[in-house]
Amino acid sequence: MAKVYFLDVRKGYRDNILVMLDRLIKKAGGMDIVKKGGRCAVKTHFGEDGNVNFVSPLYVRRIVDAIRKAKGKPFLTDTTTLYGGRRLRADTHIELAREHGFDFAPVIIGDGLYGDDYTDVKGDKIGRLYTYTDTMVCITHFKGHLVTGFGGTLKNLGMGCAAKGGKLDMHSGSKPHVVKETCTLCLRCFNYCAFDAIKKTKVSAVIDHKRCTGCAGCMSICPERAIRFNWSASSTDLQKKMGRYAARVAENKKIFYLNFLIDISPNCDCFHTNDPMIAPDIGILASFDPVSIDQACYDMVKEPIDRLHDDIDATEQLAYAAQYGAGEREYEIISI
Ligand code: SF4
Ligand code: SF4
Repeated sequence: MAKVYFLDVRKGYRDNILVMLDRLIKKAGGMDIVKKGGRCAVKTHFGEDGNVNFVSPLYVRRIVDAIRKAKGKPFLTDTTTLYGGRRLRADTHIELAREHGFDFAPVIIGDGLYGDDYTDVKGDKIGRLYTYTDTMVCITHFKGHLVTGFGGTLKNLGMGCAAKGGKLDMHSGSKPHVVKETCTLCLRCFNYCAFDAIKKTKVSAVIDHKRCTGCAGCMSICPERAIRFNWSASSTDLQKKMGRYAARVAENKKIFYLNFLIDISPNCDCFHTNDPMIAPDIGILASFDPVSIDQACYDMVKEPIDRLHDDIDATEQLAYAAQYGAGEREYEIISI
């Protein structure tokens, strides 16, 4: 049974929350994974432009300080997105991260400038950086999610460490296509595609799906946002693939997980708006098991999550992740 350490913010502590966070990390042995002089990835979500619910940089800075105290070399990391906006490409994503206060450690985007830098791991497209990173602290904001019921560590790991093509694979059963009415025939995508999958016609570029690998890099290249995909995956399909990706990312790594059940919003931090919270703040959880930590969080906010997304079985991601060997659903809570 996996151990999940729990800092309950509803209790009155004599020390402030950052001091208590230090204590949680110490009690859980979180910094035992850090190698002296070794790099340590700090995987988090820097928040969409306009969203303020992501894990505060004040917490993340404290965790980065703990890694430095353990003589590790931390860097902050996330990947590019499938949809438009400043997180679509690495350069603008880094700019946004800095604007959101993540300016105290290097920021490295794990799937490259256009999101096409990946390693094929048994058919899944994992951001290449994460396939040669062996030490990670994974910091997650636990909240509701439109398609998966909740978004926690498994989403941060599975979706958040996938390259753009991996996200496409999870969100859609199909490959991208060109909207011919929007295409200006600038041919940037034609010159970019390494797989010769883009053809010119008299009216627009066209993607040959027989040649296309689904890397999704051309979606970052097109200045008109004319290259699109269908958000056609069902919740079950997405949760299944996300569980599998999470297991692939976690394989052969030492990862310490922290989930923040604070500012529990109805939707994920990729939204550019902030709706009212669905539950009061609960606390911070820590574990070495990505399935147990999400299971424990879900058990704490099951009622508002299920009420909000009554058409989704949010436990599927837990079951699939466990089935693919990411971790176990049984856990023991250790309160600090
Ligand atoms: S057409 Fe396909 S293979 Fe070529 S860049 Fe776009 S997604 Fe990648
Ligand atoms: S990059 Fe966009 S606008 Fe330019 S040819 Fe390709 S699809 Fe058309």
